[in-house]
Amino acid sequence: MTSILQTVSCLDDYDPDALRVDKANEAVRACLSPITASESVAIRQALGRVLAQDIVPSINVPAHDNSAMDGYALRFSDLQPGETALGEVGAALAGRVFEGKVGAGECVRIMTGAVMPAGTDTVVIQELVRRDGNRVVIPPGQKQAQNVRYAGEDLKAGVAVLRSGKHIGPADLGLIASLGLGEVTVKRKLKVAFFATGDELASIGAPLKEGEVYDSNRYTLHGMLSRLGVELNDLGVVRDDPKLLEQAFRRASASSDVVITTGGVSVGEADFTRELMAKLGEVLFWKIAMRPGRPMAFGRIGNAFLFGLPGNPVAVMVTFYQFVRDALLHLSGRSDDYAIPLLKAKAAAPLRKVPGRTEYQRGVLFREDGEWRVRTTGQQGSGVLRSMSEANCFIVLEHARGKVDAGELVQVQLFEGLV
Ligand code: AMP
Ligand code: MG
Repeated sequence: MTSILQTVSCLDDYDPDALRVDKANEAVRACLSPITASESVAIRQALGRVLAQDIVPSINVPAHDNSAMDGYALRFSDLQPGETALGEVGAALAGRVFEGKVGAGECVRIMTGAVMPAGTDTVVIQELVRRDGNRVVIPPGQKQAQNVRYAGEDLKAGVAVLRSGKHIGPADLGLIASLGLGEVTVKRKLKVAFFATGDELASIGAPLKEGEVYDSNRYTLHGMLSRLGVELNDLGVVRDDPKLLEQAFRRASASSDVVITTGGVSVGEADFTRELMAKLGEVLFWKIAMRPGRPMAFGRIGNAFLFGLPGNPVAVMVTFYQFVRDALLHLSGRSDDYAIPLLKAKAAAPLRKVPGRTEYQRGVLFREDGEWRVRTTGQQGSGVLRSMSEANCFIVLEHARGKVDAGELVQVQLFEGLV
């Protein structure tokens, strides 16, 4: 197997002590090849999946020219410069076609969605016409072809409408249904295994002994991964014991596309994650110029990619959203632009920041005097998970940037809609 290190030329001048976030993401991207396997699923099951076929309509939608309004279908050439009286010869309803042909001086009562009767080309809405006995009087000022929806106006037979790699949303389900398709081919789900490491971790339900913390990282990971539509395999908590960790890594990497761990990735006495990743596979990098999240290892064991996230709960979430999310979406075969947008807002108060690392402060975007502003949630420690819960955005302070004055524009990434 070729080494992932060989494939990544963008790390040629890499400072092992402080890899920039953008470089790290570029390097990760260079290593990944999206999954190609696919499966056929019933249409409802396709929601949230990644399309593995182009959808090329075999029919026009709508299939026939039809009326966009309730009114009267007529021949535009019959209309006089002033009023025109036409004879009503029948009705066309949605699902009930007017079988006859409309001749000179005639019109047909028509409802929204009904097929345009043969011979007609224009619809006049009912509110505009006057009835005079069994004649229908059309006022002047009509336009040829008004209020008509044409066959193929939504989808054209033979013209691809959805491309392989598209994330399937509610509109796509409807669109596929409008073509009469009951099944669709999607990429297989990405398999992601994860575990938390740490001797201090207690599990929910167990009493908390001195020095212990309840393991929360597996729950935030569960939440973040669930929204990405991947297949989850939660391997629990693994103690800071090289033997147990090695077993966990071997098991996880044998059966998954991606393995995510938390904790044990820095240089403390009981930090075995990176060492083991390097022993069993290879590690591309493990220190990033960012805050929070400086220790984060990326590598590979066999065919599985590894993300060794930090232990601190906020750092887990930040590194997940800044690295893991996009990597997983890329691996899943998505070809649409899923990057989290960076918007600009005014800093409501000064922000502390030192140049030389990218910072992800937890922010609250709010509106004041008709303008969007952002403030931090307060305490920014990487163990303060409350800051993520209270925030509605990241304030992204660029690598080279120093402190920020009140009123300066800063970049924000909204949490809302983050999948
Ligand atoms: P580590 O990176 O293993 O040194 O962990 C850094 C910090 O994150 C320590 O204070 C840990 O107690 C905490 N931590 C590690 N894993 C978890 C977890 N699964 N849930 C909550 N806190 C954790
Ligand atoms: Mg630890």
